Amino acid sequence: MNSTEKPTLLVALGGNALVRKGQIGTIEEQFENLRVPISQVARLCREYRIIITHGNGPQVGNLLLQQECCDDVPKMPLEILVAQTQGQIGYMIESTLDSELMRQGIATAKPLVSLISYVVVDEGCPAFLNPAKPIGPVFPQERVHTLPYPVRNTEKGYRRVVASPEPLTIVEKNEIMRLIDLDFIVICCGGGGIPVVREGRSFSGVDAVIDKDLASARLAQEVGVDIFLIATDVQGVAIHYGTPDQVFLKSLTLADARSYLDKGQFPEGSMMPKVVACSRFLSGKGKRALITSIASIEAALSGQAGTEILCE
Ligand code: ADP
Ligand code: MG
Repeated sequence: MNSTEKPTLLVALGGNALVRKGQIGTIEEQFENLRVPISQVARLCREYRIIITHGNGPQVGNLLLQQECCDDVPKMPLEILVAQTQGQIGYMIESTLDSELMRQGIATAKPLVSLISYVVVDEGCPAFLNPAKPIGPVFPQERVHTLPYPVRNTEKGYRRVVASPEPLTIVEKNEIMRLIDLDFIVICCGGGGIPVVREGRSFSGVDAVIDKDLASARLAQEVGVDIFLIATDVQGVAIHYGTPDQVFLKSLTLADARSYLDKGQFPEGSMMPKVVACSRFLSGKGKRALITSIASIEAALSGQAGTEILCE
């Protein structure tokens, strides 16, 4: 099959693709965990042109903690930390994928690349007036007044909060399109992308983090992806999640999604951005949107697992 005849698939990997709940996140654990989604992606590249995006919560959290523990070197702003995690996780995905392609006998024909990615946000986005996304370590209450940034008392304790603005556009979208047309597997938009604002013809980084599901949906729309798949640590979308009435849904329509969102079924920090991301993708030209577990990417594509969001 000519590469441009193959449908395009974007797989957005959640943080648990690298560090599972209960693990401390040693490098051995992270490489081992990655083999689960990446062996599936390696098989899928025969059938699809593929883009991989990924979260960075645990990794950026560790970098922030390292910064808090050491005053001997200058502290770096968030944009730099996000860039560091794109390099770190991009390398881990690339090398795991390379080994898997080799193991499956696909390697010689299959180029792959990970791309440092900028995502443009608007300085006027209301999120900047109300930093609400907790990141990094938990601080003892007595340290809170010494910290040079906004802090909130969250479920886990006192944590730094940053703005999570809307992703407007992916700066490298044209390069990504050209690469996938050449049948490169492209790893990009790590951690939701490096948040930048446009200043004339140049960009400058801002202290914020962009939700990786929303950034992935934006990329999927801009590149014209056919299938958008979010892989996380639950089997799909449930209603009454975490209660005795919990039911995982095999599918839900855009109208159902809207109504469950309005009823508060999907929390802001976890399932809400995934359902919103899928809804935005399908409201554009997207064909299929799926939310499934890291272990069931292939099964979800063949309708055997996960939750599919349907136009009607
Ligand atoms: P990721 O790193 O993949 O983005 P998140 O923690 O942000 O993971 O989102 C996945 C989590 O969403 C699950 O672990 C689950 O606890 C939570 N969740 C909240 N509401 C729901 C729901 N209605 N259905 C399924 N999972 C839900
Ligand atoms: Mg998340």
